[in-house]
Amino acid sequence: MARRKKIYEGKAKILYEGPEPGTLVQYFKDDATAFNAEKKATIEGKGVLNNRLSEFFMTGLNQIGVPTHFLKRLNMREQLVRSVEIIPLEVIVRNFAAGSMAKRLGLEEGQPLPRPIVEYSYKDDALGDPLVPEEYIIAFGWASQQDLDDIVALALRVNDFLSGVMYGVGIKLIDFKIEIGRVYDGDFMRLVVADEISPDSCRLWDMKTGRKLDKDVFRRDLGNLAEAYTEVARRLGVMPSNVTPASKPTLIN
Ligand code: UDP
Repeated sequence: MARRKKIYEGKAKILYEGPEPGTLVQYFKDDATAFNAEKKATIEGKGVLNNRLSEFFMTGLNQIGVPTHFLKRLNMREQLVRSVEIIPLEVIVRNFAAGSMAKRLGLEEGQPLPRPIVEYSYKDDALGDPLVPEEYIIAFGWASQQDLDDIVALALRVNDFLSGVMYGVGIKLIDFKIEIGRVYDGDFMRLVVADEISPDSCRLWDMKTGRKLDKDVFRRDLGNLAEAYTEVARRLGVMPSNVTPASKPTLIN
């Protein structure tokens, strides 16, 4: 069988040509990066967990009428998605202060915000994904005002869905990042949630203990990342067994 054509390779995922026009295969790697790829590691099982978790969130969103690029999971590390034209923005939604916002404004991490705040970073690794105001986005033509209104509406629906799902399993959704893609149906253009939704792109804190169950475990050297992600998957009932190094099958003599 001929090897599939690679369309794009990012830090945590690879996109291959899909089986039908308008589709792609999204492959989840075990690679973790932080601080604009200055910190790198391979974390066994991360790709498998994120594939499952992203499937879980995207399926839920599709079911409540929030359109996503997700079509179906193919195997442990791959999912079939719709090919979209990615808008070059990281759409960040924050419920509690953390990370770059806490630093920028001198806020204590975990401080509740007066309301969910949506902000945008321009996707450009060389520039370190700078925060950009709506004014820049419209002036440079990355998205129109109408697109931005639709993006905010989508982002807030994703926020309500994810916050609720997480609340149900004792986890506080501090913030998250999504990416939005354009899908063309004849003359019509629709915006859909694309990329991935996983603990790589969210901040998730245990409600009782405050334990971090997201990529900050890696960014800040707080322990075993695969274990933290496994805990999220286990609570959500999407636990793929045997993915952490600790639970590898052992040879019985
Ligand atoms: N985020 C992400 N990719 C990025 C930058 C941020 O997924 O390139 C997520 C991050 O995991 C967090 C949220 O977006 O859930 C807000 O991140 P923040 O701006 O605080 O940046 P950070 O502190 O991660 O640099």
